[in-house]
Amino acid sequence: MFDLTGAGEAELIDEIARLERTKSAAAAGQARLTAVLADKRRHAEAAAGVPRAKQCRGLAGEVALARHDSPTRGGRHLGFATALVFEMPHTLAALECGALSEWRATLIVRESACLSVEDRRALDAEMCADISALDGLGDKRITARAKEIAYRLDPQAVVERAAKAESERTVTIRPAPDAMAYLSVLLPMAKGVGVYAALRRAADTTFDERSRGQVMADTAYERITGRPAQVADPVAVEMMISDETLLGGDDTPAVIAGYGPIPAAVARRLIDNAVRDQRSRATLRRLYRHPKSGALVAMESRARIFPKALAKFIDLRDQSCRTPYCDAPIRHHDHAQPHHRGGTTSAVNGLGECEHCNYTKETPGWQVNTTTDETGVHSAEFTTPTQHRYRSTAPPTPGQPTIEITELEVRIGIALAQYDAA
Ligand SMILES: [Zn+2]
Repeated sequence: MFDLTGAGEAELIDEIARLERTKSAAAAGQARLTAVLADKRRHAEAAAGVPRAKQCRGLAGEVALARHDSPTRGGRHLGFATALVFEMPHTLAALECGALSEWRATLIVRESACLSVEDRRALDAEMCADISALDGLGDKRITARAKEIAYRLDPQAVVERAAKAESERTVTIRPAPDAMAYLSVLLPMAKGVGVYAALRRAADTTFDERSRGQVMADTAYERITGRPAQVADPVAVEMMISDETLLGGDDTPAVIAGYGPIPAAVARRLIDNAVRDQRSRATLRRLYRHPKSGALVAMESRARIFPKALAKFIDLRDQSCRTPYCDAPIRHHDHAQPHHRGGTTSAVNGLGECEHCNYTKETPGWQVNTTTDETGVHSAEFTTPTQHRYRSTAPPTPGQPTIEITELEVRIGIALAQYDAA
C-alpha cells in the first residue's frame, strides 16, 4: 500500500506517474480482451451461418455497457481494439508500457483508418516502433505525424476519406453552464471558415454597446431563425415545470426537452415573455405524478392515453434514450417486449430509445424487461447476449412530490408549457 500521508512530494509525483502508466496498461488490456471477444463472437456466428455483414451486431453496445460508456463510444472502443490488436502491434506495445495514453493511441488508429492493412502496419511501425520518438508529443503533434505518414503512404485514400467526412456534416446541441447552450455545426473546412468569416464581418461593421462575441452570436441566431435576436421569443420550446415552480412557490428547476434542467427563475421568465408576446402561443398540459416517488404516471387523463399521446408521455417520462449511459435524444417509441411476442402498446412496455440503441436491441440475444413499481417508477432491465444485466430508471419529474392525495388533479399536476410562434 502506498503511504499517502508519509510520502514526500517527489514520491507523490512518482506515484501519479505510475498510476498513469497503469491506466494505459489497463487500456491495452481492455483492447486485447475486446478484440478476442469480437473474434470469438465472429467465429461462433459464422459457424451458426450468420452472414458476415451481420456478424458482431450489437457487440459495440455490449462493450459500451461493460465500460459504462455511450453506444457511440462503444463502437469506437471496438474498432480501436480490433485495429490495435490485429494490425498495429507497435502502437499496442506503446500503450501497454505507458508511452501512449488511450486517447493518443485512438488518435493514431483514427488517422490510419482509411489505409489498407499493409499501409496501416507501415504507419504503425514508423510511428511507434521506437517509443522514444513519442516522448513529449501532445495530441496535436501525434495527430499531425499520423496524418502526414498516412498521406505519404496513400494520398488517394486520404482524399477519399475527406470526401466521406463531408457526408457526415451535422448540427448538434449540448447544454452549457448557466442556462446557456453550445450549438455546434460540423461543416467542411471551407464552409466552416466561410461562416465564421461572415460572422466576423458582421461584428466588424456593427457599432453598438455589444461585444464582438455578442454581435457574432446574435447574427448567427438572426440569420438561422430569421428573427431578431433582441426579442426574447423561444421557438417551439417544450418545458416541463412543476405547478409550484410555475406559481413562484418553489425553486425546483424546470426541464426543457432536448436540453435538460434550467433554473426556476429562467423558466418563469421564458413563460412570462411568451405569454406577453402577441406572436407566441403558450399552451399548458396537465401531467400527473405519483404522490410518493414523483414518477410521471399519467398525462391529462388516464383514459386518454392512446398511441400519439402515449408517445408524448414516453418522451416526457424518459427525456432521453433509456439505454444506460446513452444520452442521445429519443427517436423511437419502442415496445420493450416486441409486439409479435405479445408485448402490449402501453406506457409500461413502452421505451424511449435512440435510433442506434433501438437497432442494437433488435439483434439476437438482447432482451429488455420493463416494470413499474407501486410508486409509479418505471425501470427497464437490459439483458445482453452474455446474460449481463443493466438497469435504467426513468428520471424523476421536476419538483417535490406532494404527499396530499386530496385534490389530486390540482395539487400534483405538472404544467407543460409549449411555445409555438403564431
Ligand atoms: Zn441510445
